[in-house]
Amino acid sequence: MKDAPSIQFVKGVGPKIAEKLAARGIRTPQDALFFFPKGYEDRRHLLPLRALKPGMTVPVKGTVIGVHGGMRRFGGTRFLEVTISDGTGHLSAKWFHFHPSLKERFQEGETVILCGTVRFFQFQPEMHHPEILGKAEEHDPVHLGRIVPVYPEIEGVPPRVLRRIQWEVVSHHASTVKEFFPRWMLDEAGIPPIHDSLAGLHFPPSGVDASPLLSFSSPAQQRLIFGDLFFIQWTLARRRAGVMKEASVPLHWDKEIVDEIKRRLPFALTGAQRRVVNEILKDMSNPHPMHRLLQGDVGSGKTIVAWIAALVAWRKEAQAAIMAPTEILAEQHYQRFVSLCKGLPVRVVLLTSVLAGKKREALRKEIREGIAHIVIGTHAIIQEGVEFERLGLGVVDEQHRFGVLQRAALRGKSKTAPHLLVMTATPIPRTLAMTLYGDLDVSVIDEMPPGRKAITTKVIREGERKSAWAKVRKEIAEGGRAYVVLPLVEESEKLTLRDATKTAERVRDAFPGVGVGLLHGRMKSEEKDDVMRRFQKGDIRILVATTVVEVGIDVPEATVMLIEHAERFGLSQLHQLRGRVGRGTRPSFCFLFVEGQQGEDAIARLSVMEKTNDGFRIAEEDLKIRGPGDFAGVRQSGIPDLVFSDIVRDARMLSRSREIATKLLERDPALAQPEHAALARWIASKEAAVPTIG
Ligand code: ADP
Ligand code: MG
Repeated sequence: MKDAPSIQFVKGVGPKIAEKLAARGIRTPQDALFFFPKGYEDRRHLLPLRALKPGMTVPVKGTVIGVHGGMRRFGGTRFLEVTISDGTGHLSAKWFHFHPSLKERFQEGETVILCGTVRFFQFQPEMHHPEILGKAEEHDPVHLGRIVPVYPEIEGVPPRVLRRIQWEVVSHHASTVKEFFPRWMLDEAGIPPIHDSLAGLHFPPSGVDASPLLSFSSPAQQRLIFGDLFFIQWTLARRRAGVMKEASVPLHWDKEIVDEIKRRLPFALTGAQRRVVNEILKDMSNPHPMHRLLQGDVGSGKTIVAWIAALVAWRKEAQAAIMAPTEILAEQHYQRFVSLCKGLPVRVVLLTSVLAGKKREALRKEIREGIAHIVIGTHAIIQEGVEFERLGLGVVDEQHRFGVLQRAALRGKSKTAPHLLVMTATPIPRTLAMTLYGDLDVSVIDEMPPGRKAITTKVIREGERKSAWAKVRKEIAEGGRAYVVLPLVEESEKLTLRDATKTAERVRDAFPGVGVGLLHGRMKSEEKDDVMRRFQKGDIRILVATTVVEVGIDVPEATVMLIEHAERFGLSQLHQLRGRVGRGTRPSFCFLFVEGQQGEDAIARLSVMEKTNDGFRIAEEDLKIRGPGDFAGVRQSGIPDLVFSDIVRDARMLSRSREIATKLLERDPALAQPEHAALARWIASKEAAVPTIG
């Protein structure tokens, strides 16, 4: 392309405005074309004031009958109030913190047009900070008599001015934009080429139905959404293909090995466990590394699956490494593995950062020489100085504590790439998994081991607390154990600590003679482990904790989970916490305490927890309500931000773009064909702009 002209040559853009636009990355008309409305307003019809209803965003026209500037009684904010009338009713427009010159724009008796959202105050309609149009603009197709675009705010450029600039840009430059997706991709995605619809995205033609635009399902929007999602899926498809090419140790298994392993199990596998074991073992017998995500709700029995895979690796003379996010979890895995392996000539070792000096060196030597067969540990496993003789399998437990980088580090621990199994108890909605873990194949354990006792969950309002605590008392009296969990106080760790300490004291007073422990993030890991161990043993019967207990610790005697300020947690996190109980033979309870001030909204949201124990359903709800940013791990995934798309709203296009990306990779992996040349250039420029983690 020729050097693009500067935005300053667009009518209505002077040096000052050009500077403001540049600050938002808009330097050329091309940039402006890709600066899209964040929404639209239907300004096709002026409404009589009498017909206004709260929540409407509309243009109204009237005569100014009063202009009042003043100070608010409280807080001393300056505000301006302008009242207009159109013969059918009145409306007052209000501005707070306004510029003095604003007042001069209104003269009693003059006609004005105001565009804004209607609200009611003391039965009178009003608008706050409406857009003001003069009489001259009444027939201006840029601002009125159509569906108008609403752009993201740009500091120093009033919305009216920005809309006018965009109008100019669209009229003169929209036709210069060329599509870079080849025809076959557009056809398969079911979308029009970009130049067909770019103009309509900014200024929808009259007579168009506004609702598809407002729900982001118009063809032009779908085209952009596709661009977003395709880029991610292409990146992931290539990442996956790259992994596929590496060489790994093929770990062929036979029925005999597996039957022998199964015989050592104290129980029969569930159908879901059998299915995922098959998927995993099949992958492991390939000469290319497995790259698989194992999703399974808390308590669904992922550890056994990892253990089977590790034993198969051992039987095929390869080593296995299991990485857990905390010392105590690593230790718990270690003990379970040791007891499951009793009587077998397999050497299971524990490598955590507690180990130092000679002992650490000795263990590292065992690992290097292949004497240690199954290595269980924390991130100490991926530290420098740890080398495997022949690592066949790497398992990462509770993935959301680890990022893509750690996965890569584990892969680098051996001459041949190990098969990799990532386990997570955070049920990740399918759509999110496709973007976050799109480079992994996915296995799901969607069935609980038999005999699991139901957990009764109740949202507890202020007035019901006593009865909840009475239940705790009863459970404790009958030999149970309880967790009392407090949220992190966002403003300060100090406050969190104070809350937790105070609560622990209150509980101690209320339960004389019962061991009460306190667990929080400020404690050293040895201290935490010590408290957890005493809770496991039963010296501590009530554990007051901040959210550090979230990560999977197994105390089957715990039957009560009481969560303070439940409204401050995401549903998925509550579900994780709840998974700490219901692990034994006794029925369990989860109480979600809601602070008195909290409205029905919070209670309605939390009531999902009362209705279902299905982590996937809960995660879907969470994703709908809170968006993807709250799913731990999203930030560190190395996935570029989505500009136009929303993985919940655009789930269908997400699947489609994944299929198309896969197809393109099969047809023309190097993008060497002429019909893909423009696409290749676009991808290269996107890659230059977003560094992704390999
Ligand atoms: P998670 O998926 O949360 O890691 P675990 O692997 O810790 O779950 O398993 C939870 C509990 O269920 C453990 O005590 C385990 O021994 C038990 N368990 C796992 N699979 C089965 C099964 N098929 N039948 C009965 N109990 C099982
Ligand atoms: Mg686990």
